[in-house]
Amino acid sequence: MLEAIFAPRSVAVIGASPDPDRLGHQVLKNIVQHGYQGRIYPIHPRASQILDLPAFPSVLHVPDPIDLAVMVIPARQVLPVVEECGQKGVQGLIVISAGFKEVGGEGKALERQLLETVRRYQMRMVGPNCLGVIDTINRLNASFAALMPNEGEIAFMSQSGALCTAILDWSKPQGIGFSRFVSLGNKADVDEVSLLQAWNEDPHSKVILAYLEGISDGPGFIAAARKVTRNTPVVAIKSGVTEAGTRAASSHTGSLTGSESAYEAAFAQSGIIRSRTMSELFDLAKLFSYQPMMQGNAVAIVTNAGGPGIIATDATERSGAVRMATLTPETIARLQRDLPPTANVYNPVDVIGDARSDRYRVAIKATLEDPGVHALVVLLTPQAGTDTEEIARVIGELAATYGKPVLASFMGAMSLGPSLKILNEQRIPNYTFPERAIQSLASMARYLEARQQPEPEFVHFEVDRERVRQLFDRVRESGRVELGEIEAREVMEAYGMRLPRSRLAQSPDEAARIAAEIGYPVVMKISSPDILHKSDIGGVRVGLADATAVRDTHELIEYRARKYSPQARIWGILVQEMVRKGREILVGVSRDPQFGPLVAVGMGGIYVEVLRDVALRLAPISRQEVASQIRSIRTFPLLRGVRGEPPADIAAIEEVVLRISQLVTDFPEIVEMDINPLVVHNQGEGAVVVDARIILA
Ligand code: ADP
Ligand code: MG
Repeated sequence: MLEAIFAPRSVAVIGASPDPDRLGHQVLKNIVQHGYQGRIYPIHPRASQILDLPAFPSVLHVPDPIDLAVMVIPARQVLPVVEECGQKGVQGLIVISAGFKEVGGEGKALERQLLETVRRYQMRMVGPNCLGVIDTINRLNASFAALMPNEGEIAFMSQSGALCTAILDWSKPQGIGFSRFVSLGNKADVDEVSLLQAWNEDPHSKVILAYLEGISDGPGFIAAARKVTRNTPVVAIKSGVTEAGTRAASSHTGSLTGSESAYEAAFAQSGIIRSRTMSELFDLAKLFSYQPMMQGNAVAIVTNAGGPGIIATDATERSGAVRMATLTPETIARLQRDLPPTANVYNPVDVIGDARSDRYRVAIKATLEDPGVHALVVLLTPQAGTDTEEIARVIGELAATYGKPVLASFMGAMSLGPSLKILNEQRIPNYTFPERAIQSLASMARYLEARQQPEPEFVHFEVDRERVRQLFDRVRESGRVELGEIEAREVMEAYGMRLPRSRLAQSPDEAARIAAEIGYPVVMKISSPDILHKSDIGGVRVGLADATAVRDTHELIEYRARKYSPQARIWGILVQEMVRKGREILVGVSRDPQFGPLVAVGMGGIYVEVLRDVALRLAPISRQEVASQIRSIRTFPLLRGVRGEPPADIAAIEEVVLRISQLVTDFPEIVEMDINPLVVHNQGEGAVVVDARIILA
């Protein structure tokens, strides 16, 4: 896939120029001088030769087939030329030219037409408005970057062209190499999803890095990333905010979510490693591209200084993803035999400040050969007698033998230049400080764990979808977007939730009759499509024990509702079965414009906004995801039961979440909803939806 762009047999540069100051010249020069093996055709209206290559006035004049065309011409000239490319049978386009969507107005229209032409001829296009594409495997530098990156195993995509040039410039002296390097530009056609798919199982790329500002197709992105991350780690950094973050929210869930949490959930559910900073992005890129995957989460540390050893140990224990390996008695005996008596032979292994490479060799070999060690971090502080370059060589030599990731943290800058170069040549990632080495390993361990999870399993419940559809139609016909309690209950019922028995009363006497039918004690609530939070106006009374209380309460609630909200349409007073005490949970949904429905689970009740203790997943949610979702609520121990309390029915919560996930997937018009509370009883006793709100688009 995308062969024509990454591995074309021939390239035309449209807008190639004899003038070395022009972009079109620089792009052509980049293609010519970095070893591209295919045929190159400069296209220029008048020139007969550019950079010693015969030039042609248009692609239609080129006698041979052309796979890829790179455009470096003004935006308004692009359309007719793309048309020619289509006629010529060109399959790939890289449109470097700017002046499209990013300038708004006419540019937007131009980009639409451009895309339409590209689709009509079934071409694929990178850009417009981009730096270009570099592929070191095919030695194709179809960009105006000032440098050709080193060959390496990092595939990189970026939505910012300027960032691309900065990274190329920075990576070169660092010795970091790339397999593919793509500036996405306006991503009218080829976007992050196309590249993820193209790079899935790419033998030349061990890790995919992405700098993203926004995602065009959220669900497509998640689906593609879910597949790719099973084979290849994907590390992404996301910047910028979207309008969703500032949208006013009228539900509990709406106020607890935003585009930031949607990204968080999207990355987590699709197995993407999220990096917060550029330095972290490259910390991880080095580890994943240089070293093999960990096969477990136990780390050994070898150091020549106590302090850094402790720092690394602390970082390991705090990480929550990697742990300190326990060395076997054989390893310990070996270390005791071969290291001086002052050395510490337990993990972290301290070879002591005067250690030279022979001691490092003993300790590295022994720890890497220990079956309980899955990764090794070698720390070094430069002392007068430390032969750092030789130590760097020893690390490289031994790391290559055991198939376990080895990381270094040579601390210092002054005296370490040559040894850092040796480490890099031997593909040992080095980190200025030990914490960064440990954090990188922790990310690798988390990635490994996610990858080892079974394929997500999606459940489908038998529900009455048609009934909900008809109800929504009726609500819309009446010009409302907010469902009243009765309607929300009907939706819940159609999707198989358990609800307290209840009926609407229009008079105190009717209320008393219903209460007798339901059985005392009962709960009474105001029922109005215009009153969102019933308790706020004193519209909920619980524990009503007899007919007198029910009659009085009917009058009281009605009076209060009229007083606090004179305009409200009152449908009646709901008389409801009193649900026995349980733990109160919130299950809610808000809709993210990029990723779709975001389902929240957390502690319910009136402190929801204060505690902000919710865990989020994007629907559709799998069985595994709902299990991890509920377990990641901070107050999950309360559900499991503390101080001899029996555990709550966690399976029942999971089922409610999955049914809600199905509901909001079936009905995209649900923009927000809350179940608050879901009253959860003890294990095996189920959960009851006591209150629900639904808002339609
Ligand atoms: P609102 O959220 O609009 O104020 P609710 O229906 O959630 O109204 O009721 C408020 C609180 O009253 C609930 O959080 C719950 O603690 C209690 N409650 C409501 N209905 C029942 C019921 N049927 N059984 C037991 N408790 C209830
Ligand atoms: Mg409520």
